[in-house]
Amino acid sequence: MRIAVIGGGISGLVAAYRLRQRLGAETDIVVLEQGPRLGGVLHTGELAGEPMDLGAEAFVGRRPEVIELMAELGLDDQLVRPAGKRPLVWAQGAAHPLPGRTLMGIPTDAESLRGLVDEATLAQVAAEPERPLRWEPGADVDVQSLVADRFGRQVVERSVDPLLGGVYAGISASIGVRAALPALAAALDRGATSLTEAVRAAMPAPSTEPVFGGLRDGYGALLAALTEAAAPRVITTVAGTRVARAPRGWVVDPLGLVDAVVVATPAPVTARLLHHAVPAAAEAAAGIALSSSALVAMALPRDTALPDNSGILVATGEPLRAKAFTLSSRKWPHLAARDVALVRASFGRFGDDSPLTWSDDDLVAAAVADLSTVTGLAITPVQSIVQRWPGGLPQYAPGHADRVAAIEAAVEPLDGLAVAGAYLHGVGVPACVATGTAAAERIAGAVGARVD
Ligand SMILES: Cc1cc2nc3c(=O)[nH]c(=O)nc-3n(C[C@H](O)[C@H](O)[C@H](O)COP(=O)(O)OP(=O)(O)OC[C@H]3O[C@@H](n4cnc5c(N)ncnc54)[C@H](O)[C@@H]3O)c2cc1C
Repeated sequence: MRIAVIGGGISGLVAAYRLRQRLGAETDIVVLEQGPRLGGVLHTGELAGEPMDLGAEAFVGRRPEVIELMAELGLDDQLVRPAGKRPLVWAQGAAHPLPGRTLMGIPTDAESLRGLVDEATLAQVAAEPERPLRWEPGADVDVQSLVADRFGRQVVERSVDPLLGGVYAGISASIGVRAALPALAAALDRGATSLTEAVRAAMPAPSTEPVFGGLRDGYGALLAALTEAAAPRVITTVAGTRVARAPRGWVVDPLGLVDAVVVATPAPVTARLLHHAVPAAAEAAAGIALSSSALVAMALPRDTALPDNSGILVATGEPLRAKAFTLSSRKWPHLAARDVALVRASFGRFGDDSPLTWSDDDLVAAAVADLSTVTGLAITPVQSIVQRWPGGLPQYAPGHADRVAAIEAAVEPLDGLAVAGAYLHGVGVPACVATGTAAAERIAGAVGARVD
């Protein structure tokens, strides 16, 4: 039995691990990875002599997938929680507290925005429930259109965009309500009479559980344990170029004949791979765009008087190049214990890939200058690392849920083929883990049945 997993990011590695669990040691599980290393956009580098995540650095800890996976792999002692500090928003040349009680920055009341937006906007938000709302059940629009119309542009630029920029490297104009905020779309479908009412209905129940988790030594610890447990045959620096049906099983170029295949590549690559075998899935996947970002991780002298916040998000339209700073030493107690103060500066939003073309020196200089602007401090890194993520995140644009439904409907009848990845049911690591597990279950069911 030979199974190919194309794409060695977290989605593909989890699929390989679950396949190993289900099908045992005899099965030849091959992970085909175009890049020189496994992990995809999860990557732990070294800064000031210690591990530092240069891609994802956290996960939503209220979802079970990553925590359960860590427990299975014997990594419980790696689980760390943030200190619970709030971020700031840099808007109109000043730092403000990030509004509380919002759904991805969309407020549940006007008061939470006081100080961040002007009086006219506060009045518009307060009066919104009285303005009739027109919403066709099942409709989808971009987040910007909906929020700007109901609450005004300042709410979009200073509260919503900074948060969406963090999750999708997108802006509200490139993100659809239905896929990115399904609970909000559902509340609107149910007939909420205002956006305020819909947002309040869509807010998650209050919980004392910490929202986020992370790994003490970075995601590299999870990748290493996962790879060891999956024990796949790993082929790096070789790209999958085509997936085609064979009389019994599938052909994966350049690997050859396999019994089953998990395609765990980014959406545009998946579209190319499935172009001939599953044209309907390929066409839908080709409609999913990617955004790019770059990251500068800096080690500063330990006594740098950074604000006592988890980060500083930058509002749309500010004359800065960075879109966000994670004050890692403030955010994570385990990083606060180090000999240096750690900060990650992020660049790039959907539609503006230009920071990826800057030299390392220019990116570091921009990170230093912008961090100095937002903190008022002299910033003198003792070391910095630049990491670029071209096409690192899929955009959940309006119509995304329909595209995903079309991909899954087209793949569903095909025995021995499964897809996984960040473009399906959420970009966060827990959602990717879930797609990898689901893909493995599907394949194990199919090949198990064939063996029987
Ligand atoms: C900068 C950044 C910060 C993030 N921060 C967080 C965070 O804090 N928390 C969180 O939950 N999520 C975060 N995310 C999102 C999350 O990290 C990703 O969505 C997730 O890791 C994607 O995993 P994946 O396996 O689906 O895709 P990828 O990691 O993109 O893996 C796909 C793999 O396929 C390979 N590949 C491509 N083409 C081919 C081919 N033809 N043949 C073979 N292999 C191929 C690629 O090289 C890659 O290794 C962040 C993302 C980025 C970019």
